[in-house]
Amino acid sequence: MIAGYVMGQRAAARASGMGAVSDAMRGLGTVTEVDALNERVNRLLLVTEAMWTLLKKDGHTDEELTALIAELDGSDGQADNRKTTAPLTCKTCGSKVAAGLAKCQICGTATGSLPGPLDGI
Ligand SMILES: [Zn+2]
Repeated sequence: MIAGYVMGQRAAARASGMGAVSDAMRGLGTVTEVDALNERVNRLLLVTEAMWTLLKKDGHTDEELTALIAELDGSDGQADNRKTTAPLTCKTCGSKVAAGLAKCQICGTATGSLPGPLDGI
């Protein structure tokens, strides 16, 4: 099922205008960024499919995965098919600091947040 889901997501992304966006970006000179993002998304889809294949071999089910996705999706307060992390507030200057940053981008104070295993993907 995950393979079908992944293939469906790829088809949906293409159908939703990724090609049109990419074409529009070519004129702006940012096509390499779009291409790089597409490559990262494709790589993540491959890694996700491989991980799910391994977990299914250990007896996990599509129903378990679906339930956990719904749980994680809603854990940020919104069931919107994405997981967002609220920004931190710098304890020195009060600026909002994007989640995952080790230091405040304004004053450089350490946030105290440690990088997670999926940071930087
Ligand atoms: Zn600060």
